[in-house]
Amino acid sequence: MDTARIFVVEDEAMIALEIKDRLSVLGYDVCGSAARGEDAVQRIPALKPDLVLMDVNLAGPMTGITAAEQLGPLCDVPIVFLSAFSDSNLLAQAAHANPFGYLVKPYEERALHATIQMALAKHRVERTLRAQAVIDTLSGLYNRRFLDESLHREVARALREGLPLSAAMLDIDHFKLLNDTHGHDAGDHVIKSLALLIRRDLRRGDLACRYGGEEFTLIMPGAPLSDALRKVEAVCERVRDTPIAYGTAGLRVTLSAGVATLPGHGGSAEALLHAADAALYAAKQAGRDRVCTAQQ
Ligand code: GH3
Ligand code: MG
Ligand code: MG
Ligand code: MG
Repeated sequence: MDTARIFVVEDEAMIALEIKDRLSVLGYDVCGSAARGEDAVQRIPALKPDLVLMDVNLAGPMTGITAAEQLGPLCDVPIVFLSAFSDSNLLAQAAHANPFGYLVKPYEERALHATIQMALAKHRVERTLRAQAVIDTLSGLYNRRFLDESLHREVARALREGLPLSAAMLDIDHFKLLNDTHGHDAGDHVIKSLALLIRRDLRRGDLACRYGGEEFTLIMPGAPLSDALRKVEAVCERVRDTPIAYGTAGLRVTLSAGVATLPGHGGSAEALLHAADAALYAAKQAGRDRVCTAQQ
């Protein structure tokens, strides 16, 4: 594993030096230090250290606890508090900032090392869990929850910056029949395979989600309607032309899709998805295996 990069926040210069020395001896890379909370909050997000050692009592208006609370939404970094005190009031306050550890001074080098190692390990696990929480296990695409969160964010950004944003809803045609004919496992295999085919055309920044059972959503920030239509047509064409190997069978499926774009088709995440869904319905009504555009 790479050497962990640690940022030290400590207002007493002698103690700061001593901590840095100890960290170096333990094999860590001290990537920066600050004596004041304000300074720490300003510098840490850009430096992206692997861990922050934060003195609780700092000179200046900002305590280490407040600095940790302010860093929370700014960057994803584990924080270990250092304090000469461990009274229950202070611990309760510190707990609010979700620290990854709390070391009471004076502490031994072994304790410092163990606390840092545990904090790093816990943070790695948390990151993995957080990543898994937004992924649909069958398809490997993002799940509905992530779609809802990111679509709101992307719509707000598109409106703010005056850029287009397209969304597409795609639904497998006659999927119930495929399940009934080849079995549910075959159906699952088709969903997995389609996820790979859908992902192939994505650009950086595009999002592919499994919206529900056999429905997928594509979010294409920056794409005007013409680009989005082309991309979704290409996905549908590839799906139509690619038999999906399942045992000795080559399963063939088609997709119907609806595309909507902001501005034009509504001014919110809900309105955009609703417009794409209405267009998908129109594609089904018109005979399936096609892409329709939302009505203005
Ligand atoms: P349409 O062309 O109108 O979309 O017809 P359809 O049969 O695809 O649509 P319908 O909504 O009638 O049925 C959807 C089917 O998708 C029924 C359900 O069993 C199946 N399905 C949903 N989720 C899964 C899944 O995770 N795995 C499998 N194998 N099937 C699923
Ligand atoms: Mg202090
Ligand atoms: Mg459906
Ligand atoms: Mg369907």
